Amino acid sequence: MLSFIRSDLAQLTAYSNHAVEHPEVGAKVVVQPERIDRIDANESPFDLPDDLKQKLAWTFQQITQSNRYPDGGYEALKGAIADYVNETAGAANFQATHISIGNGSDELIRSLLIATCLGGEGAALVAEPTFSMYGILAQTLGIPIVRVPRSTANFAVDVDKAQQAITETQAPPIRVVFMVHPNSPTGNALTDTEIDWLRNLPESVLVVIDEAYFEFSQSTLAAELAQRPNWVILRTFSKAFRLAAHRVGYAIAHPDLIAALEKVRLPYNLPSFTQAAALTALAHRQQLLESIPQMLSQREAVAHMLSSFSSLAVWPSVGNFIFVQSKDAAVNLSELYEQLKAQKTLVRHTCGGLRITIGTPEENQRFGDRLRSAFSQVAAS
Ligand SMILES: *Cc1c(COP(=O)(O)O)cnc(C)c1O
Repeated sequence: MLSFIRSDLAQLTAYSNHAVEHPEVGAKVVVQPERIDRIDANESPFDLPDDLKQKLAWTFQQITQSNRYPDGGYEALKGAIADYVNETAGAANFQATHISIGNGSDELIRSLLIATCLGGEGAALVAEPTFSMYGILAQTLGIPIVRVPRSTANFAVDVDKAQQAITETQAPPIRVVFMVHPNSPTGNALTDTEIDWLRNLPESVLVVIDEAYFEFSQSTLAAELAQRPNWVILRTFSKAFRLAAHRVGYAIAHPDLIAALEKVRLPYNLPSFTQAAALTALAHRQQLLESIPQMLSQREAVAHMLSSFSSLAVWPSVGNFIFVQSKDAAVNLSELYEQLKAQKTLVRHTCGGLRITIGTPEENQRFGDRLRSAFSQVAAS
């Protein structure tokens, strides 16, 4: 171990996702990588349509000056995001001053942690099972993380335990609470009880509501932000907007909180091409979001298929993914995961269950076939 590295980092392993094989850049013959159904990362199964890719390529060719730093204020993109948020949040009147943009919402999560907790000033609260990035990023910053449980009946947060944690945690106190709406990997939206609890938290605690799956759930708390200076909503272009490759997420909050986020971000955190991609996606949002109803009906079809396995507990989901657990001690999810992977369907094995992203109809169909086959292998072994 390098002796100059912080000792608490030594225990951490670096985050790694599935390795995507890329054909060699500049190769004359493009050999397509082996076809794997990746339904493990909650991305959209659909690439950008060709006409949008062409528009983006044109922008890169004709407008982007590669030798120049990007526009570092992102005013055009912030304005376009504010318009989109207003469209999704009823009578809201958000402007560019209510928006901060991150290199993925992961960057914004880190910025929020830096702005609230760094230097021994605060701890972060999460309710598990939930998105793992909150805990991982807190750890890399040396920020203590307080974990409270969720109900095993419906994955609702144990609000009494959470409140107790807020009241009792001292030195440092809890300064930020992370909630996903709907939660990943479990798929449940915040309940009225949970939302009421969040409303009643003291203003000295920042409430982060991560709406990464908003376009699927169609449920947002954005309209409440005007009354809640200690709330921030995070969203991303990585899921419904099909831009995971470009890394862009945004925060919606009171301009004072946005100003704090702007202080801690890196100067040019969003490459010019990424800005262009996000602007293009927003300008063509109707076309991109047209795929959502089909994905929701596919989600119901996959849930129905999963329910035919009596040994699986299939949790209801309002996202673009479904969480299942095993009800039968004889059914080992690690084995199922491996059997699926051997057949080239990759799902996510996490939090004591499998999280399955809704793919294309073909991928979903193959998933069903391969799951049946995996079950017969597991049963035979
Ligand atoms: C996918 C996801 C994100 C998105 O992260 P990006 O960094 O924007 O790609 C954020 N929060 C949750 C809960 C997610 O599932």
